[in-house]
Amino acid sequence: MELRFEKAEKLKEKPDMNNLGFGQYFTDYMFVMDYKEGKGWYDPRIVPYGPIEMDPSCMVLHYGQTVFEGLKAYKGENGEILLFRPEKNMARLNISNERMCIPQFDEAFMVEAIRKLVKTEEDWIPSLPGTSLYIRPFIIATDSKLGVHPGTTYKFIIVLSPVGSYYPQGVKPVDIYVEDVYCRAVKGGTGFAKTAANYAASLKAQKVAEEKGYTQVLWLDAIEKKYVEEVGTMNVFFVIDNEVITPELNGSILAGITRMSAIELLKDAGYRVSERKISIQEVYTAASEGRLNEAFGTGTAAVISPIGEFCWDGVKLPVNNGEIGPVAAKIYDTITGIQSGRIEDKYGWITKA
Ligand SMILES: *Cc1c(COP(=O)(O)O)cnc(C)c1O
Repeated sequence: MELRFEKAEKLKEKPDMNNLGFGQYFTDYMFVMDYKEGKGWYDPRIVPYGPIEMDPSCMVLHYGQTVFEGLKAYKGENGEILLFRPEKNMARLNISNERMCIPQFDEAFMVEAIRKLVKTEEDWIPSLPGTSLYIRPFIIATDSKLGVHPGTTYKFIIVLSPVGSYYPQGVKPVDIYVEDVYCRAVKGGTGFAKTAANYAASLKAQKVAEEKGYTQVLWLDAIEKKYVEEVGTMNVFFVIDNEVITPELNGSILAGITRMSAIELLKDAGYRVSERKISIQEVYTAASEGRLNEAFGTGTAAVISPIGEFCWDGVKLPVNNGEIGPVAAKIYDTITGIQSGRIEDKYGWITKA
């Protein structure tokens, strides 16, 4: 397939790169590709960023048949454009597609399309420490038709957004509310897919937690409300004694690429890493015996988000005096170092655009 290019008549004014926040500004161009049953994916193109036309009966608006991804491009020290494991994001998008009855696409072709799009928008990649160009690929069902049924037409779109540093004032631990009423996903559902429904299901709990003064929720398993799943939209890790523990992938947990990378790095550095079930009671018991050394979340947006306090059933649990611990710091420094080209990429995680 040829990737076609449609030139914009006028380019936008760039935002203040010192004050980007997250997901507020979008670049001059976007990627679009269509799908039709019997024809497959066709007409991949880079076109001026702008609104897309939709019929009010457009399927995705009613039943949420959609998937997305999130990854980042960084400006390396010598000006190179660095992408972190984009092939993993494309592989995961196809896993989400399978669950959501959306047709598979050619992953190698899409990694190439991301490279070309990012290269086109090179001037939009911020270069201050911690900043990056956030890449948001997503697919929507576009049939104009009511009736709950998988679509026959789709659009694959990628938009780009320059984003600021997650930690302009240095890495800061967050306070977490252990959610014991609502759940985001259940085994057999769509928790392992990056699909809109999971995030819609999470809004209410997030709102309630924020009203109580917490930044994020810790999700427990939907059935027994006993085992730890994830924290907000991040995977979660605990350091208890000398064991680094993260919940095993069980169908309701999203398989994070930061999670996967952190596990590999820590094993390589000689840590004992376990992917297993961990109950919230085990965390509280370990803490009461002085054996809970660290807790932190992992995800593309923040890389690492140390946890300074949990609140479960009204009982507050401070972690590591509200400071980042050595395991979290090691992962943060190594991953951000590889992403920015400061540390040698001995794992082959970087793709240059
Ligand atoms: C995206 C996401 C993560 C983190 O995945 P990364 O690939 O590390 O960015 C974790 N949990 C949920 C629910 C997510 O949507």
